Amino acid sequence: MNCFDCQDLDIATPAVAICRVCGAGVCHRHARTRPRVLHELTGTGLATKPRAARRLLCGTCTAAESGG
Ligand SMILES: [Zn+2]
Ligand SMILES: [Zn+2]
Repeated sequence: MNCFDCQDLDIATPAVAICRVCGAGVCHRHARTRPRVLHELTGTGLATKPRAARRLLCGTCTAAESGG
């Protein structure tokens, strides 16, 4: 699979990741990592896990999520 965003620019770059939201293949240059904080329901309420997981998004979805 090639990077979807590079394909738009007529460049064929192998994809190294898949956007978590839209499923597009993205190269290293176009992939955006976003931390995802995990919550866990415990007896006393909601506990936040100490480490954030990783989400990989394309530039389009990152912009859409951050409202820009
Ligand atoms: Zn790309
Ligand atoms: Zn996307």
